[in-house]
Amino acid sequence: MTRSIITAAEWTLGPETAEGAPKGIHSAECVTCGAQAQSTDNDRLPVEVWALKHTGLNPSHRQFKATIESFWRVTPAPGNPYRAGDSHDA
Ligand SMILES: [Zn+2]
Repeated sequence: MTRSIITAAEWTLGPETAEGAPKGIHSAECVTCGAQAQSTDNDRLPVEVWALKHTGLNPSHRQFKATIESFWRVTPAPGNPYRAGDSHDA
């Protein structure tokens, strides 16, 4: 039996803010042939350009599955005993 106690007020969910962590990793895949754009950190323009070029070279390939991956971090809220030892706390 799995048992957990979750007290929402003591933890805070937010975007990952660690140095070097991307806000988003952008990528896209052609629905027709499965070709994939090279993923990019924080900048979706290269992925959009790839999609346009892909359709230019393959005029019947016009649908893409675009993906943005993002990262979260849960941090201890004030009053949470884990807060004292959290090096990521600003
Ligand atoms: Zn394609």
